[in-house]
Amino acid sequence: MGHSVTTCEVHSLSMSPKLVDLTYGMRYDTPMDEARPALFPHANEPYDTRACMGVQQTKARVYVCPLCTKAHSAWLQANNAS
Ligand SMILES: [Zn+2]
Repeated sequence: MGHSVTTCEVHSLSMSPKLVDLTYGMRYDTPMDEARPALFPHANEPYDTRACMGVQQTKARVYVCPLCTKAHSAWLQANNAS
């Protein structure tokens, strides 16, 4: 309790609701998956369900933190990933 879903737990910033793409498909963890929870849990990026079931929807409403989005971009540049 005491945890608001609209505040980023990493940056303590208010987040804005946003509609993002959903991606599907089972896969192994990537280095980004390991960095995400601590560095940019609420970046503006497609929401990866990692589900192998049939696609029922293609968009998800998520909350986006501006500093997570920045940290995500910085991580991509630092790690030369895409
Ligand atoms: Zn954040």
